[in-house]
Amino acid sequence: MNIILLGAPGAGKGTQAQFLVESLGMVQLSTGDMLREAKDSGTEMGKLVADVMSRGDLVTDEIVIGLIKEKLDGEQGAGFIFDGFPRTLAQADALGALLKECNRDLDRVIEIQVDDTALIKRIVGRSTCGGCGQVYHDETKPWPLNGQCSICGSTDVKRRADDNEESLKQRLMEYYKKTSPLLGYYFAKGNLISINGLLSMDCLLYTSDAADDTPCVDLGGRRI
Ligand code: AMP
Repeated sequence: MNIILLGAPGAGKGTQAQFLVESLGMVQLSTGDMLREAKDSGTEMGKLVADVMSRGDLVTDEIVIGLIKEKLDGEQGAGFIFDGFPRTLAQADALGALLKECNRDLDRVIEIQVDDTALIKRIVGRSTCGGCGQVYHDETKPWPLNGQCSICGSTDVKRRADDNEESLKQRLMEYYKKTSPLLGYYFAKGNLISINGLLSMDCLLYTSDAADDTPCVDLGGRRI
């Protein structure tokens, strides 16, 4: 099963992807994570994209399509979760072609809907634990008073350079201008499911299909 998680910054794509990885053994392909890794390790490509990312602009299609192609060539796994890719129509076309080349299908595109005011609140104030990746929020889930992560005890508080109000506005603008047309694109292809990202995590249940034990995702009663 190969799926795309589509949604504005802060919609919860990464969090949902993590659940799918843990429960179904799927492989998460997050172009944002790949680009941050390249930036942190100081590769040529990382240096090239650092400014673009901190402004909240999209990096070029060529770069991200290259990253995804590399991963698809090398990974087997139970299926892919595309998280933060594609973000433009050109990327969507390229993904279709890449999947065809390796005889894979795109099973579903899941749009996670969250209204803009909630998105901004979620992102500004967000931090993660450098030790285990646990997500915290200054208002809704502050770090424990002793400064240690409640899961792993690390004191390494990480904040994304682009999780500030100015970059976020630009990221939202990029989403509406370049990524939201993908909703129509995948609707027309018959792949799209939209879910309410403001509901509790229980709206996404990851189960095994009782009939034949095939892993599947249950989206509020709709199995995929
Ligand atoms: P994310 O972690 O998905 O929010 O991505 C962080 C940043 O990485 C974005 O604001 C873009 O600058 C860049 N980025 C990630 N994925 C893509 C993509 N598919 N196309 C273009 N830029 C991307």
